[in-house]
Amino acid sequence: MTEVMKLDEQYVAGTYGRYPIEITDGRGSECRDAQGRSYIDMGTGIAVNSFGYCDDEWKAAVTAQLDKVSHTSNLYYTQPGPELARMLCEKTGLKKVFFGNSGAEANECAIKVARKYAAEHKGEEYSVIVTLTNSFHGRTLTTLAATGQEHYHELFCPLTPGFVHTPANDIEALKQTLACNKVAGLMMECVQGEGGVIPLDKEFAAAAAKLCADNDIVLIIDEVQTGNGRTGSLYAYMQYGICPDVVTTAKGLAGGLPLGVCMMGDKVKDVLGRGDHGSTFGMNPICCAGALSILKRIDDSLLEEVKEKSRYIFDELGGAQGVTEVTGMGLMIGVKTVKPAADVVKECMDRGVLCLTAKDKVRLLPALNIPWEQLKLAVEIIKGACI
Ligand SMILES: *Cc1c(COP(=O)(O)O)cnc(C)c1O
Repeated sequence: MTEVMKLDEQYVAGTYGRYPIEITDGRGSECRDAQGRSYIDMGTGIAVNSFGYCDDEWKAAVTAQLDKVSHTSNLYYTQPGPELARMLCEKTGLKKVFFGNSGAEANECAIKVARKYAAEHKGEEYSVIVTLTNSFHGRTLTTLAATGQEHYHELFCPLTPGFVHTPANDIEALKQTLACNKVAGLMMECVQGEGGVIPLDKEFAAAAAKLCADNDIVLIIDEVQTGNGRTGSLYAYMQYGICPDVVTTAKGLAGGLPLGVCMMGDKVKDVLGRGDHGSTFGMNPICCAGALSILKRIDDSLLEEVKEKSRYIFDELGGAQGVTEVTGMGLMIGVKTVKPAADVVKECMDRGVLCLTAKDKVRLLPALNIPWEQLKLAVEIIKGACI
């Protein structure tokens, strides 16, 4: 045990089961631990380090902003936030952005938007937010209520009321749910990440979007994990041919800094008015400067590379010995293995590759720009660990 591990054990709340590795530094897709061992990182801090560790361009953008202003609160204007909001809107066609610090906060904002829109347009009794079974939307008491996995709820009840779950990919069940409740919004992930890297059926997504449009229900797509180039398009919904009213994202947006956004389309862009919502750290200039530098680089050629690397991983691991299924989109991939996923992850770690798990799968979320050489080596090692 390193000194840091001992301190962590004694003084840090025991909410995480950590691997026995103290990461001291990293460059790109490689990091090192306190023993000087190096690893290829196929998890990027759970889809956060979009361009890996200490990326030069990102670092330059962040440090330049550090030299100007790091925080002033939302009582004053600062440059990076509005510029980032414009870039997000121009790239998505959505109209306005609220800035928070995390995925859960982005979703909280989306839920408030849906509830206020419905209260004003349909009546205050239209407050129900429908989400999917096996979803994950965050850890606050409200986003936990939104999360369609019972085991996260245990011992924290009562959660925020007004959430109803319906099974993914079951259009009839969704119709029933919408008919039996006074619904403000429908929130879903295009690829359920924590739920096991499971993409939503295209037909279901399209039917759900149409039901929302027909019934004036706010369609919220949670792109906290799938967003910012991760799935091979800037946002995953773009591959589903649907037009959400609200899109939330966080994780990879600022390339390693805490930033969450709730983006609002035409229908709801003016729902939030002065005093309706806020966040002290929201629109933090450092985080926004980091995000600007990340978002600028997620262009067609990078996305093409993401898709090419995705195909490579699917080809190599699909049908590999000890692998029963490969799911996901882009560089958000779940690998179902014969061996327990945790054992595969442990073996990979011993051989110098960091992977994640999602439910019973090994989950891969490498940097969007992971060099081919490191990717090939990592896949080789993962393959070996699956046998
Ligand atoms: C990680 C995640 C969240 C929660 O994000 P935090 O930044 O941890 O609050 C919400 N939704 C999805 C889909 C996620 O993957």
